[in-house]
Amino acid sequence: MTLKLEQMYEMQKALDAKIIKEKGLEGQNLLPNTILALQVEIAELANEWRGFKHWSNDREPRTAIPSLVKTSGIDIALEDGTYLQNPLLEEYVDCLHFFLSIARQLEYSADDLCVFEDYVEGETGLLFTELLINVGYLLGDKLQIRESEKDFKAWQKQHFRGAIYIFYALGEQRLGFDFEDIAAAYAAKNEVNHERQANGY
Ligand SMILES: [Mg+2]
Repeated sequence: MTLKLEQMYEMQKALDAKIIKEKGLEGQNLLPNTILALQVEIAELANEWRGFKHWSNDREPRTAIPSLVKTSGIDIALEDGTYLQNPLLEEYVDCLHFFLSIARQLEYSADDLCVFEDYVEGETGLLFTELLINVGYLLGDKLQIRESEKDFKAWQKQHFRGAIYIFYALGEQRLGFDFEDIAAAYAAKNEVNHERQANGY
């Protein structure tokens, strides 16, 4: 059964709570680190997409990489005992983890994560850059690029929703993922992240 977005949000809250407790991070503002972490994952996603590498003959997205060992719950087992990895999808759900964590830190509701879906125009490479810019704006109060004190929360939420709108559009319209793929990969990576905490990652 496919997880709902609300369920993934709850799973993220549980994972975050575990990390905060085990790493003794109670009371700290983790938002700046989480924003940078999301930007890093977006860059990793672009790196696996490869479409912007005009200097390379290999500009196809990395979605089926042979592997002798299983490293993730989304790896596909082949008959000869080897596996196929999907680094593009893995990076996409790494991004989703940090989007959900940011939403939790900003006390957004599950409804705030839902956006009207429409076809997004523009080159895929530009969408990646626009996504990174919108995510950077979430730090507006630290960077002194906000509009005004009074409107900051609304302005920040507008950029969050702008970012997640582009992120969903990238996944479904440009990278070829459907919601079931994303939900299954999220669940698999969430489990890995719990194991990492348990094993002193
Ligand atoms: Mg990653």
